[in-house]
Amino acid sequence: MFTTEQQPHKKQIAILGSTGSIGTQALEVIAEHSDLFEARILTAGHRWELLAAQARQFNPAAVVIADETHYTQLCDALSDLPIAVYAGADALCQVVQSSEVNMVLTAMVGFAGLPPTISAIKAGKPIALANKETMVVAGELINGLCQQYHVPILPVDSEHSAIFQSLMGEQSPIEKIILTASGGPFRNFTLEQLKDVTPAQALKHPNWDMGAKITIDSASMMNKGFEVIEAKWLFGVEPDIIQVVVHPQSVIHSAVQFADGAVKAQLGVPDMRVPIQLAFSFPARLKSSFERLDWYAMRDLTFEQPDMNKFRCLQLAYDALDKGGNMPCIVNAANEIVNVAFRKERCSFLQMADIIEATMQRATFIAQPTYDDYLATDAEARRIAEEAMG
Ligand code: NAD
Ligand code: MG
Repeated sequence: MFTTEQQPHKKQIAILGSTGSIGTQALEVIAEHSDLFEARILTAGHRWELLAAQARQFNPAAVVIADETHYTQLCDALSDLPIAVYAGADALCQVVQSSEVNMVLTAMVGFAGLPPTISAIKAGKPIALANKETMVVAGELINGLCQQYHVPILPVDSEHSAIFQSLMGEQSPIEKIILTASGGPFRNFTLEQLKDVTPAQALKHPNWDMGAKITIDSASMMNKGFEVIEAKWLFGVEPDIIQVVVHPQSVIHSAVQFADGAVKAQLGVPDMRVPIQLAFSFPARLKSSFERLDWYAMRDLTFEQPDMNKFRCLQLAYDALDKGGNMPCIVNAANEIVNVAFRKERCSFLQMADIIEATMQRATFIAQPTYDDYLATDAEARRIAEEAMG
């Protein structure tokens, strides 16, 4: 299937979502360590021109454009190169199984990341996990598959990477996880002020430059709710020992407290290339040219409790965890609908939580969902959320 030369000494990485915020930063890491890493497969949703440019620069064995309508354009753009071109969601599931691939970075957005992640796990590929929605929707299923196929998951989400780093070398049980949150752009807004906030305001995150979907989720704090769910499955802890702490400076990326009261945290300048690089190089740490913390320039590091009355999405995520079964999948699907709707000004900022809550009440609850149940739940919850929007 692949025609380019094999270089087995380098780690061959498949990037699902190479044109996005995480994907492009992953390519920067690969470029900086081209002696160690190679981009074996690049994939994108719609942006075929950027995908073609990346392919020209990184010379992968194959590229996939999920949106099949761009297949011919992508083929034409790469016709002079020995790069296999595929299109469609099924192709994503196939390319990650290639025997040459040593690691799969899941940097796509949303539920769409679930099928190729499962496909990669079944082929025994270590996962660098950015696509947190996969763990939100089907954490239990994913953990079971990882055990069955002996596949490690290396967290890319900055908080989970910080927790992972705090746990390095530890054998003792976790007493508490301190999951930090920036609080987003509306941290100090009143409920009254939140009524009229615009997508443009929500898309201006104070500390991180991310894709649109996660930036809106950060503004509503659904992102933090999802990260609580992600932490439960990644670290095998119950939600009552995960404490969300608002820390607007985003210097402490998260922390772990142990039985003796000692707390270990990971700190740094907010830069996603650090956790991406560690996921690629683990257990080694590689040199980097990234900005370092300037301790004399740092001002106050502050900490506060999140306000669940203002940020109801965070509460809804906890409720979904509490209910279990397919409820987190329902919340994720409804959230994907309202997230886009808010960006298109089809619903207001505060209506997002209302619609998610209504979907949670109406969608069919399944206590022990199978993979097919998740697919059906996702479709049903999307339909209900659309209807609830009117
Ligand atoms: P993004 O929107 O910038 O990029 C998404 C990528 O996925 C693009 O390459 C896009 O083409 C592709 N894609 C989108 N929908 C697709 C589909 N249906 N099929 C195939 N490909 C598709 O998003 P991002 O900010 O890079 O986030 C990616 C994932 O990483 C998300 O799950 C997000 O929660 C997580 N994450 C991101 C950050 C960050 O700093 N950006 C931090 C932590 C976690
Ligand atoms: Mg995060």
